[in-house]
Amino acid sequence: MAFKHKVIAAGFAAFRLSGLHRVVAPLTRGRGVILTFHRVRPFSPPTPGYAPNRLLEIEPDFFDAALALVRWLGFDFVSLAEARRRLIEGGPRFAAMTFDDGYRDTRDFALPILEKHGAPATVFFATGFLDRTARLWWLELEEALRRLDAATVAIDGRALTVAARTPAEKAAAFERLYWALRARPEEELIAATGALAEQAGVSGAAIADALFMDWDEAAAFAAHPLIAAGAHSRAHRMLAKGAEAEARAEMAGSKTELEGRFGCAVDAFAYPVGDKTSAGPREFALARQAGFACAVTTRPGMLYAEHAAHLWALPRVSVNGMWRSLGDLESLLSGAPLLLWNRGRRVNVE
Ligand SMILES: [Zn+2]
Repeated sequence: MAFKHKVIAAGFAAFRLSGLHRVVAPLTRGRGVILTFHRVRPFSPPTPGYAPNRLLEIEPDFFDAALALVRWLGFDFVSLAEARRRLIEGGPRFAAMTFDDGYRDTRDFALPILEKHGAPATVFFATGFLDRTARLWWLELEEALRRLDAATVAIDGRALTVAARTPAEKAAAFERLYWALRARPEEELIAATGALAEQAGVSGAAIADALFMDWDEAAAFAAHPLIAAGAHSRAHRMLAKGAEAEARAEMAGSKTELEGRFGCAVDAFAYPVGDKTSAGPREFALARQAGFACAVTTRPGMLYAEHAAHLWALPRVSVNGMWRSLGDLESLLSGAPLLLWNRGRRVNVE
């Protein structure tokens, strides 16, 4: 488990046991929240005991129950545009739904539940996923380790070999390689996972065809009255690690292309990966310059009035495979465990 999740999990477990989050919620909940989702689908891993990207998914029943809980806690379901307006002008407490990457299950499993609850959502599309040119390195790594009994990758000029015979070994190998590679420059990460995929006979294009919407599907989905399209760059790279010109082109290029293909304004951006190592003050300024009305990170947090001055660095709360109980989610949405993670700071934008 990533350190971030461990800290937040420890925090909300403590709050949940004590019930303290209910007492402090009026102080810590803020004006609203932007929720992050990736995948919503029935869970059926092809290799039992090995589902390393499960962090990115929840099951349809849980999504349904989560939305009911969010509403019960007093959050209105609003579009991201309305969330921005209420953040600036005030208004009833709100929750905006966002889905990253354009997985097909957002349409097939999440949409009927969004319709049931009347909840609008923004889907952040990376153009490189739509035209099958961007690398799905985290999925290629999962699939390669599923097929291999051992893997050797070059990390910072040194060969690292991991065993991957049993599901437990595969899971440990994924965890080790994922975090070691994610800390490295994007080129090295792409080269290492690409080499493993090739060795294992894994096709990134086949994974994309199986899991991700294509342009026609995305355009039809974006035309749904509850769905707004947002931009998520072209190649889905960690922008802060690259040159400024590249980050600028990734942001502006995805906006222009999505608007041209969908025939509508695309005025929200989600930073790929979105943590501190992927998006910082330089990227926040670039998103503003690119003409986005707001941009979202994956830094965890509720939205407070102060965020009106930081519209291109908005935090989100990820509803993912790590928190699978409604009690955890209720505690999380009190805002208290998130403030603990942010060491008491309501705004974390450095
Ligand atoms: Zn993404």
